[in-house]
Amino acid sequence: MRYDVSVVGAGAIGCITAKECAARGLRTAVYEEDAIVGKQRKCTALVSESGLRSIGVDYKRAVLHKVRGAFIEAGGKRMLVDARRNIACVLERQRFDEQCAEEAESEGAKIFLRKKVRALPKEKWIVGADGASSFIARAASFPPITRFAFCYEAEYKNARVEDEAFVRVFLDSAFPGFFGWLVPCGNNVVRVGFGTQKHERMNEGKRRIASITSNSVTKSSKKLREFHALIPLKWRSQTQRGNVMLVGDAAGQVKATTGGGLVFGGNCARILAESIAENRNYEKEWKKECLPTLKLHYLVRRKLDLLPSGITLAAAKPFASLVSRFGDMDNIIRV
Ligand SMILES: Cc1cc2nc3c(=O)[nH]c(=O)nc-3n(C[C@H](O)[C@H](O)[C@H](O)COP(=O)(O)OP(=O)(O)OC[C@H]3O[C@@H](n4cnc5c(N)ncnc54)[C@H](O)[C@@H]3O)c2cc1C
Repeated sequence: MRYDVSVVGAGAIGCITAKECAARGLRTAVYEEDAIVGKQRKCTALVSESGLRSIGVDYKRAVLHKVRGAFIEAGGKRMLVDARRNIACVLERQRFDEQCAEEAESEGAKIFLRKKVRALPKEKWIVGADGASSFIARAASFPPITRFAFCYEAEYKNARVEDEAFVRVFLDSAFPGFFGWLVPCGNNVVRVGFGTQKHERMNEGKRRIASITSNSVTKSSKKLREFHALIPLKWRSQTQRGNVMLVGDAAGQVKATTGGGLVFGGNCARILAESIAENRNYEKEWKKECLPTLKLHYLVRRKLDLLPSGITLAAAKPFASLVSRFGDMDNIIRV
């Protein structure tokens, strides 16, 4: 069978793209190199509830826990950002991605597993939703993404959690260009991790995050999983070349402040499907809707990156005000 749209990558964003395309009557195929769909839990999966609603996925069954704010910690001090109501969900990421795939299939998209794409597909429309190291971007000679955070995360059970309603964010010179985190998942399970723009400092980051969180992850805690992964910190300067388009991490549609990509990628997936169905320019459309907000996050990130040495709590203020000003972390400022 011939398809109108070929989506490469059955992560959450590829599946949302496929669902949105199929819902508009486009015959859609998704090719995934792995034997299962999704990110396989290589994600902290802390997502604002309003953001989740905006991408139209029935996320409820994937929710593990809810939080209402964060302690931002730097230089031995901390500041509380409290929304006074639950604003963000901690997701079981694999469950969420499977939901995205189920919704794509129920709209009529066909997902092919164990199909690693090694050449540009021949369909009328080709979508690279194949993550931060996108093969499609390389095969179609798109310009590279120029800024990444190298991340490590581990999940533990039997952790000691001071307050399950608050995430802890660590700004520390051991995590240059990003930050560390401890995210409660409920029932004394925590996700502890960090990112850095300097790959050569990963080992130092691991030692530091273990030390900062040692009051929570103790000898009686048990590691359930750990992983390393990349987060793009800047959008790709070009995301459409004729009939080839990039979406999600492949396009760098990620907030540079927090590394959150599900809401922006999910919204861009819808814009991509609308653009195909209504014969509009995808790149122009997503940049009109989402780029001002991504730019704002990028400017805050740059401000934090440019601090001379050592990070103080004062430096955290732009970060905190961004979170509290928009009420949650994933608002897209409509222009
Ligand atoms: C440590 C960490 C923490 C994060 N925390 C959060 C968070 O709290 N909140 C949030 O919103 N976001 C978070 N993110 C970001 C989020 O995980 C990504 O933005 C999101 O997963 C992007 O989804 P995607 O579908 O674009 O790419 P991916 O999930 O990477 O999916 C790409 C898919 O393409 C497949 N693929 C790749 N190449 C090929 C090929 N050649 N042929 C076929 N298939 C291929 C891969 O197997 C994969 O399934 C985090 C990321 C990391 C690394």
